[in-house]
Formats: sequence, structure tokens, C-alpha cells
Amino acid sequence: MAGKRVVILGPPGSGKGTQAARVAGELGIKHLSTGDILRDAVARGTELGKKAEDYMRQGLLVPDEIMLGMIREEVDALGNGGWILDGFPRTLKQAEALSEMLEERGVDIDRIVLLDVDPEVIVARLTSRLVCTGCNAIYNVGSLSAGEIEKCRQCGGELVKRPDDEEETVRRRLHVYEEQTAPVIDFYEKRDGLVSIDGAGDIDEITTEILRGLK
Ligand code: AMP
Repeated sequence: MAGKRVVILGPPGSGKGTQAARVAGELGIKHLSTGDILRDAVARGTELGKKAEDYMRQGLLVPDEIMLGMIREEVDALGNGGWILDGFPRTLKQAEALSEMLEERGVDIDRIVLLDVDPEVIVARLTSRLVCTGCNAIYNVGSLSAGEIEKCRQCGGELVKRPDDEEETVRRRLHVYEEQTAPVIDFYEKRDGLVSIDGAGDIDEITTEILRGLK
């Protein structure tokens, strides 16, 4: 049976990455994070990474043409398997292109999940966030004991602050979200299946609510 196809939307720092990884594990589908794919490309110094690096460092969006080529390859590589898209689409053009691309392949998105979080909560969250360079697990500085600050509990990898998690860049990313990604919500709201979830509460409860919304 074909797996579920899900899009998770929400501002940077709304918990999309954390929740998408959990949902993917629960449903046995692939977690496709465009941010993780791009960061990996930057770390490996590939052509894609070289093209994307400056935009990412500044908290700006990577141009649509680059993103569309990348997502097409990723989705095709998964064939009939399900996926949860985290960080894509981020512009109306990307949303329209994704719909066209899926239509050509005779498939559709099953559900769109929107995580709703207040911008000031996001600034506080992102400026105290650390990310594992090994497995992309996400930590909050306040939840780690002193000795743990440099090591990931899951894989032992190094924990670092993302260059785009500095406050000024976080605020720019939120602005970019309002300007360029909010129209994507309107686009999907017109379709059936957009589930809006309060992303400010307990992580486990949010996962439970998302899974309930995906049934
Ligand atoms: P994220 O990890 O999802 O916050 O993404 C980190 C950065 O990668 C963003 O600030 C953008 O520079 C870039 N990026 C990720 N996904 C996209 C996308 N769909 N369109 C344009 N840029 C993206």
C-alpha cells in the first residue's frame, strides 16, 4: 500500500522538524527536510550547497528554481513510498509546482498540517537551540546538563548552534515567512485537509494531536 503524503507547515522554530521526524517514525514514512538536505549539501561542498549557502546564512530563501529541481529528485527517488515534507513549499510558486508535479505522477497530498506558534516564543526557542551535526536531533540549551552541551544523546554527535539561529537572522526569517510563506497557507486552506495545531504546548501532546489529525 502507498504511504501517506503529508506537508507540515509553520514558521521557522514552530517545531516542524522535531514533529516531522516523530510522525515519520510512527507512520513508517520518509522525513524530507529541505533545510537538512541543503545543510548537508553545504557541509559536503556540492554544487547545490555552493548555490544555497549565502542565502541560508542570511536567513533568505533559496531561489525557487533550485528548490524545485531538488524536490523533484527527492520525491521521484521515493517512488510509491509515503513522505512528510518539512520546509517545503515555502512560496506560492513552490506550492503550485508541487501540486502540478504530483498531479503528473497521479498522486496527491493526503494532509497538510499547520503548526501555529507566537513569533516571540519562536525567537526565544531558536536563539537557545542546538542541533546535532550527526543526526539533526534538536536540543534546547536550557534542557541540557553542563556535560551534555557538546554531545548528542542519540548518536554522540557534536551539538552546534545554527548560523541562522542568531537573533537578527531569526527575525529576518520570520519576516520572510510572513511575506512569502503565509500565502502558501491560504493556498492550502482552499483545499480539504488542512489541520491547524497549536504548536506551543508539550511536545508529546503535539505529536499525538498531529497523528490524530492524520487519521
Ligand atoms: P529550515 O531548516 O527549514 O529552517 O531551512 C533553513 C534554510 O534553508 C532556510 O532559511 C532557507 O534559506 C533554506 N530553505 C529550506 N527550505 C527552503 C525552501 N523550500 N525554499 C527556499 N529556501 C529553503
